[in-house]
Amino acid sequence: MTYHTPVLLKEVVAQLQPRSGGLYVDGTVGGGGHAEGILRVCGPDGRLIGLDWDEEAILRSRERLKEFGARVELVRASYVELEKVLMSVGMTTVDAVLFDLGVSSRQFDEPTRGFSFQREGPLDMRMSQQIVASARDIVRSASVEQLVRIFAEYGEERRAAAIARRIVREREQVGITTTTQLAQLVERVLGPKRGPTHPATRVFQALRIVVNDELGNLRSGLAAAMRVLKSGGRVAVISFHSLEDRIVKQFFVEHSTACVCPPDFPKCVCGRTQSLRVITRKPITASAEEVNLNPRARSAKLRVAERI
Ligand code: SAH
Repeated sequence: MTYHTPVLLKEVVAQLQPRSGGLYVDGTVGGGGHAEGILRVCGPDGRLIGLDWDEEAILRSRERLKEFGARVELVRASYVELEKVLMSVGMTTVDAVLFDLGVSSRQFDEPTRGFSFQREGPLDMRMSQQIVASARDIVRSASVEQLVRIFAEYGEERRAAAIARRIVREREQVGITTTTQLAQLVERVLGPKRGPTHPATRVFQALRIVVNDELGNLRSGLAAAMRVLKSGGRVAVISFHSLEDRIVKQFFVEHSTACVCPPDFPKCVCGRTQSLRVITRKPITASAEEVNLNPRARSAKLRVAERI
């Protein structure tokens, strides 16, 4: 079974323009698919630093990228700690940073990780073994109000309140500890699957985002990338849902606009300076052919900007 098929691989490599002598960061190295694509075109001496906060991903990509020897460095860490990691290998600036967000197919398909409502497993959803609170902890201890907010805000679930109330009622009687228990509970509230998506999709997405602080990490990761990119260096982000894509888009817009003070102000009070040039006005999406081969690519959006 393949660990993970990289999405938009050709597009990412074309956008990052890897060349010999360059230094590249893959902030979410996963199975090492994108990393391999980058390393292949930046020989003989382009280098890559790969980060992942999941131990298994580091082991896997280490195996896959063996042939590149000292050109690749893999570190188990959150990409939020990008600067610290670079410092630890004696570097301060890089030519490009890639973030391929979300979970890998491997994480998603492994029942014991608890990401999939279609596979019976513990309600875990922690991408990294270092995260303290699992989805089960949240479902067990969050108040109705907190659950409503989580499902509405991070799952854009319209029936958040009904689901939250049902959770609180049922957890007192039976405890909710597995993926299928939660999926069936949501199905009892929302009714059986009608469209192409399972009724529990949004609730699972919401919990996953909260457990892994996905949106907070994305904001911090983008800010860290800005601080380490050389001028002319590129940041590329592949996102898989609208909450993520919105953050990337807004971040790029904000950093690509110069001072917005009225022209008659004697001095700038907005503090904005242009530090990015947006390369992708519209996000790059997967071809029909790729989606056909890899359904996960369906919702992928690639945005790229250049440091100035
Ligand atoms: N591009 C990879 C696949 C990445 S899948 C490939 O070609 O194989 C997304 C990966 O990001 C997962 O392995 C997940 O553990 C990792 N991840 C998610 N959030 C992270 C974070 N904050 N820091 C480091 N890794 C993270």
